[in-house]
Amino acid sequence: MSIAEEEIKKFERGDCGENKVFYQAMEEVIYSIAPLLESDDKYTKHAILERLVVPDRIIKFKVTWMDDNQNIMVNTGFRVQFNNSLGPYKGGLRFHPSVNEGILKFLGFEQILKNSLTGLPIGGAKGGSDFDPKGKSDFEVMKFCSAFMTELHKYIGSRIDIPAGDIGVGAREIGYLFGEYKKITSTYEGVLTGKPFMFGGSLMRPEATGYGAVYFTEQMLEIEGKEPLTGKICTVSGAGNVALHAIEKLQQIGAIPVTCTDSGGTIYDKRGVDIQLLKILKFEERASLEKYLVIHPEATYIPVSEYPEGGHAVWDIPCYAAFPCATQNELTDVDAQNLIVNGCVSVTEGANMPSTPKAINDFLSHKVCFGPAKAANAGGVAVSEFEMSQNASMQKWSFEKVDNKLKETMQQICTRVALTAKDYGVEGNYVDGANIAGFKKVADAMIAEGI
Ligand code: GLU
Repeated sequence: MSIAEEEIKKFERGDCGENKVFYQAMEEVIYSIAPLLESDDKYTKHAILERLVVPDRIIKFKVTWMDDNQNIMVNTGFRVQFNNSLGPYKGGLRFHPSVNEGILKFLGFEQILKNSLTGLPIGGAKGGSDFDPKGKSDFEVMKFCSAFMTELHKYIGSRIDIPAGDIGVGAREIGYLFGEYKKITSTYEGVLTGKPFMFGGSLMRPEATGYGAVYFTEQMLEIEGKEPLTGKICTVSGAGNVALHAIEKLQQIGAIPVTCTDSGGTIYDKRGVDIQLLKILKFEERASLEKYLVIHPEATYIPVSEYPEGGHAVWDIPCYAAFPCATQNELTDVDAQNLIVNGCVSVTEGANMPSTPKAINDFLSHKVCFGPAKAANAGGVAVSEFEMSQNASMQKWSFEKVDNKLKETMQQICTRVALTAKDYGVEGNYVDGANIAGFKKVADAMIAEGI
């Protein structure tokens, strides 16, 4: 039995421990690419699937640091360098207590196909730590980032592996990581993306994933002959970088985003959420969303504990388009049913794999336009690659230039995914279209590069 078959058997038996999300991502891809494997036996002959599901290497290390009370703390750090057939390893770092090898394998695996879909020369990787930045002082975050980079620097480089941010890692963390890398190696190079603008960051990198998800949706609605987003009610989950910038772009194009969520609950503001206030609460004060009510008492706050288990309040609010932008498996089949019954026309994944497999099947069988994460949220990593280009050529591009290139990239991804789905007999199925198009490019490169 091949490794891929063995892994899937384990998943089907429920015997997968921390690899559950990795097997979930893998299973989706394996089912999606069946028509491609049937159309050409070269992929099977070259054992591409078997080779693709095993990371090139997993680096695991201890991170020891000292908190503000002089306590010595120990965390685990990881970098999963999954596949570099198309270019250097590329993908974010996640700092969150839930981080383990299985979650990073899932994210790294998704990243290979996502990066392939951008059409840019980047391979797939992911990393991070079980460190929780929540409630930590600035100094503690700095100490942790320095300790993390003390080990990580041995394995990365601007032509080897270029990490960026993900959940829990924003410009502040990237700044500290970059500072430490520079100190250890005495080199000033684009080894990380998502850097602050003043020392090598690209304009629009913070906005890229959220804006990109909206650009993707506009294109998907146009291809599918649906009405555009202007004037339409939209629901968004999350209150991080992706969610807030999706909300911002939706407002700029005249849509009405009415929600956002954090781990405590959901804000529902019928008149449209106040994005300036959200940015202050989340990016400056790092406060709970409940504080939104201090300025807007007429809005509603639904604590997580007040909504029945199995579903989420945010997906029970009628909308034209939904944007899950929080985390994996946050949108269940119960949520999908609520969205469908309430007339939702389009769902775009801003987070990585936020919809469960059952929810996705429901959307597809009810002909809801569904933009899967690896295509719809690729704007972030695309602008990361633009940052690498700017660093390598010592240039700084204007906001307009980056924005135009991002829009063009998202439109190209969307169109390629739609056309691929059509070519392989699954018209309108962007999940299969994205998996086939992303896989094919990496697979062809792997074959050309030999074993
Ligand atoms: N973490 C982001 C993602 O999931 C961005 C990765 C990057 O910019 O390298 O795609």
